[in-house]
Amino acid sequence: MPDVGLREWVAVGRAIAKGHLLRYDPKAGITARFERDLGALTGARHVLAVNSGTSALVAALAAAGIGPGDEVLVPAYTWMATAAAPVQVGAVPVLVEINETLTIDPDDIRAKITPYTRAIMPVHMVNAPCDMDAIMSIAREYGLVVIEDACQGVGVRYKGRHCGAIGDLGAFSFNKMKNMNIGEGGAVLTSDERYFIRARSYHDLGSMIRQHGDRLNEPEFVGMNMKVTEIDGAMLEVQLRKVVPMLERMRKRRAVLAEILSQSREFTLTPHNDPGSAVSLSVLARTREEAVALTGRRGIHNRLRDSSKHIYTNWEPILQKRTFHPKMNPWAWAKRDISYTPDMCPRTLDILDRTCIVTLGLQYPMPLMKMVARKLADPGPSARSA
Ligand SMILES: *Cc1c(COP(=O)(O)O)cnc(C)c1O
Repeated sequence: MPDVGLREWVAVGRAIAKGHLLRYDPKAGITARFERDLGALTGARHVLAVNSGTSALVAALAAAGIGPGDEVLVPAYTWMATAAAPVQVGAVPVLVEINETLTIDPDDIRAKITPYTRAIMPVHMVNAPCDMDAIMSIAREYGLVVIEDACQGVGVRYKGRHCGAIGDLGAFSFNKMKNMNIGEGGAVLTSDERYFIRARSYHDLGSMIRQHGDRLNEPEFVGMNMKVTEIDGAMLEVQLRKVVPMLERMRKRRAVLAEILSQSREFTLTPHNDPGSAVSLSVLARTREEAVALTGRRGIHNRLRDSSKHIYTNWEPILQKRTFHPKMNPWAWAKRDISYTPDMCPRTLDILDRTCIVTLGLQYPMPLMKMVARKLADPGPSARSA
């Protein structure tokens, strides 16, 4: 994540001095400018800033008209928000295995499609893009909506395009842990004008009193309040200018370290859906035990199975199908019985057991990181036999 510092502080100060903190104040305009800039960067025709990545996912599903009776395909490895968002609009998540790229497995998408499937939510986890070509072609074949969860892939590219702007809709998060950080925040991306107007209605229940001047006559429906303030907009403008250079540094560093690590006889590099623009680096050990042993070595950030909150086995409210009110329970409205068990995605668990994230070490000099990588790739005869 880029740092938050003096430039954000100045931008926020200016926004406060202007005195128009509501983004739809006629004299406001900072957030609107950020949305245009993010659209220009990603290629999405419409961008809507919202107050979190979770809100962005829910607004995107509402925009696409996903609801009761619908099944939504989500990967078994993601932050629980991806599986929780369909529940908020009355649909149910159906869990899909990941493959070694750490993203949703297109073959398992096919296996999990039923007559009730309406949408696929591919998640670009840990900056690794999904196999979007395969996913879009399956979606077209079956008439499904694709809502990309690019909360962990802000600014990441896939074959020259931006994650989040490839599917019908996309969601970004600007939470503290993500590529752009304003504490909490998010955005919906789409190139479909009708989806955009519907997402905007959903995110702002006062939408009907604004002078949006749209071309389409889309009737307003009951919405929420997921709006951002101009203070958010001001910080986002600054963060947007930081994210591209940061990812470019990560890409260069990743290429050098990947080359060194590919020499290892102990592990292989995690396959990547677009190696040329890769900014994420992880390795796949042969066994769980070998991966556990790797976690003690320099240059290894962590083993994915240990970042347990991102694994479906720990999404207790989903596994238990528990909602805030028993009658607001989408599983009761589903067209078939949907059940979840801890062992339902064994391939996902096996891959997470054996995958370790490599530290890119942006804050350290490149020669040092190269040395760490060489040692990781070839620890020497004594360490290998130990
Ligand atoms: C962070 C995250 C979200 C949710 O974003 P928030 O801004 O925290 O609501 C959704 N999906 C994934 C994959 C995430 O990492």
